[in-house]
Amino acid sequence: MTAPESTLASPSWAQTDDTHDPALRSWVESANDPKTDFPIQNLPFGAFWHDDRGCGIGVAIGDQVVDMLILRDAGVFDDLGDAAVGIFTDNLYPFILEGSSARRALRRRMSELLREGNKELAENAELRKQAVCAQSDVRMVLPTMIGDYTDFYASIHHATNVGTMFRPDNPLLPNYKHIPVGYHGRASSVVISGTPIVRPCGQTKADDADAPTFGPCKLLDYEMEVGAFIGEPNAMGRSVSIADAEEHLFGLVLVNDWSARDMQKWEYVPLGPFLAKNFATTISPWVVTMEALAPFRVPTFERDAGDPKPLPHLFNSDNESHGGIDITVEVWIQSQQMKAQNIEPVRLSRGSFANMYWTLSQMLTHHTSGGCNMEPSDLIASGTVSGPTKDSRGSMLELSWRGTEPIDLPTGEQRRFLADGDEVIMRGYCEREGFRRIGFGECRGVIMPAST
Ligand code: CA
Repeated sequence: MTAPESTLASPSWAQTDDTHDPALRSWVESANDPKTDFPIQNLPFGAFWHDDRGCGIGVAIGDQVVDMLILRDAGVFDDLGDAAVGIFTDNLYPFILEGSSARRALRRRMSELLREGNKELAENAELRKQAVCAQSDVRMVLPTMIGDYTDFYASIHHATNVGTMFRPDNPLLPNYKHIPVGYHGRASSVVISGTPIVRPCGQTKADDADAPTFGPCKLLDYEMEVGAFIGEPNAMGRSVSIADAEEHLFGLVLVNDWSARDMQKWEYVPLGPFLAKNFATTISPWVVTMEALAPFRVPTFERDAGDPKPLPHLFNSDNESHGGIDITVEVWIQSQQMKAQNIEPVRLSRGSFANMYWTLSQMLTHHTSGGCNMEPSDLIASGTVSGPTKDSRGSMLELSWRGTEPIDLPTGEQRRFLADGDEVIMRGYCEREGFRRIGFGECRGVIMPAST
């Protein structure tokens, strides 16, 4: 389901400019493929490792990556002044620290440089050879140093589904429609797409058992989420207002919040998730900037007539009219048997980030409302993106309804939860009439056997 288009005037952070012009083409031919996630209108940032050249900061264009450090050393960003200083190092952190005006200036410069007809790089064969290479020739690494990670629970459909399974009489707790609920996660185990995920071990207790046991997780799951990197920080003791929140967001990635459901069930009372969530979280490598997402802003979730209006610090008209983002998110799976039989991955679900009850601005505002300081590169994830229909449920817990409705795979195998060798592939993209489709690339992870 897509939220209806707003007729209200766009706030500055949702306005489009000539970098979004759908007619723009790039001299990098693969960027003009209608199916690419990385047309010239996207220009996401990432960090990579190249065997010959070492670390690099890149911008994705079609199936190529442009090395920003080489361009900077060649003087391509000299006119930008301080904006280019931020890309000195081997990850995005210093650039994120530069703030939104630097990001916008660099986006504009890269859009010019990669446009069809621009000769600066296109016809400088030597520089082009050094600075542009195939994405398949580099290995993507974490885009930045993630100091802190928070996971929200912003889909009312996910919260209602999970609540119904565990508390059938009282699925949605009374705070849900007042507070963007979340928990503090673990930054050290956030890994880049493609990193194998070892099945965790932990304490679980069967319903009919007297005591818990320790061993490999039996109910391993994924959660399809969207994550936001914080850009500009706020000082401790100073909250970020709902009006300013968008200016504190750098860009978005896809997030897989791997979840050990049997461990979660035993440990989560009374303080919430702990070891069931902290063994691994996977993110996609390309950070799609808030500027690239401007054409896809939509009104916030349409609350029911009886729902409470958010308290004043979580409410403003710009957030109501443009706080949502219409990102289609998909989860695919390929089992080991499917791989062995050359069967392509199959899609498990497709949902939209427009269906979240709370917006990213509300999550950030709430997070800082008590005075908590957010640092540049902190990651906040949205919580599982689930929609109102069965095929839009963003976790296997929901899809198989706690294992009671197994999922059939093309090999004849069934899944209630993830098996060793399963690869989970998440994809995200934005489409809107009158604009060029942009995508997030992939967020992948394959399950390895427990290491006991
Ligand atoms: Ca989660």
